[in-house]
Amino acid sequence: MAAISHRREKGARTFSTMPDSAVRLLSVVKNYDRQRAVDNLSLEVPAGSIYGFIGPNGSGKTTTLRLILHLILPDQGIVEVLGERGTRAANDRIGYLPEERGLYKKMTVQRQIGYFGRLKGVSGPLIRKRTEYWLDRLGLADRIGAKTESLSKGMRQKVQFITAVIMKPDILILDEPFSGLDPLNLETIRKEILQLKREGTTILLSTHDMTAAENMCDNIFMIDGGKKVLDGPLSKIQENFGQDTIRVRLRGNEFNSWETLPGVSAVRDQGRYQELRFKGDSGEIIEQLSRLGVVEHFEIVQPSLHDIFLRLAAGDKPPEKESEPSDE
Ligand code: ATP
Repeated sequence: MAAISHRREKGARTFSTMPDSAVRLLSVVKNYDRQRAVDNLSLEVPAGSIYGFIGPNGSGKTTTLRLILHLILPDQGIVEVLGERGTRAANDRIGYLPEERGLYKKMTVQRQIGYFGRLKGVSGPLIRKRTEYWLDRLGLADRIGAKTESLSKGMRQKVQFITAVIMKPDILILDEPFSGLDPLNLETIRKEILQLKREGTTILLSTHDMTAAENMCDNIFMIDGGKKVLDGPLSKIQENFGQDTIRVRLRGNEFNSWETLPGVSAVRDQGRYQELRFKGDSGEIIEQLSRLGVVEHFEIVQPSLHDIFLRLAAGDKPPEKESEPSDE
């Protein structure tokens, strides 16, 4: 079934049909020489969602994004973009912010954005209108005539973001969009990404920022060694891990044998508190802790995405999904 996406631009409205899945990969394999970068990968990105790509360095995130963009071809498997297997949709309907930034130093901001807009087939008047709109939104209106070499790193990053959205893409691929941004600019870009999602854009967000992934993404996909190790809504993923984490702080903080506590299998020093992975009776731990000193903080929580990432990257298997209870 196809849904209709409504894309609005200051009064003007365009309609385009959008399949339920913006991107589909089926059993995709990609090798570089003898290195297998993507290993039998299947995934489906729901249209209109923010889909988070996470994974250790060198795990295959950028390669997967480049496959979706049709910048490289798979050795095996199928890559489908907006229901198409050819290059047209990938060329015409995906905006891309690459990890390796590339602006022409001597070009002005306006020419730079115009250049990328024309590459994507946007008409001159629309480029001008959208350039003004975006520079204004991102606080760069007074830099329209400046050469990019005269901009700060954060400003260049924002210009590069504009080059990715100037075509008003149906799918926006952002590879590490927050790297090098101060908290203020990070917030600006974060808000714009969420606004684009509200307008119907599907966003693929590759990031090492686990807090951003946790807060922004509808679905989280984790790749390790080219293989999918996690895929689904964060709430479901966390649910599967269960409430197996204790955050605790003892006054004075002199105790340092946390792993000897009953049921504790791993300890992470978070600085202001300790994070313990445990299985069993929390009452027993509370009892032991209260014998050790004054417990200033104690809570039982689901693991954070950061913690889940560390566990999976260390080779832990994700917990088996509980089967849904039958209504009958
Ligand atoms: P990072 O988080 O560090 O950006 P990544 O998850 O994006 O990493 P990729 O860049 O996709 O990882 O790399 C996956 C694997 O493929 C790595 O082992 C890398 O060395 C290899 N690789 C990537 N590009 C090439 C290339 N052009 N030629 C040869 N090997 C490559």
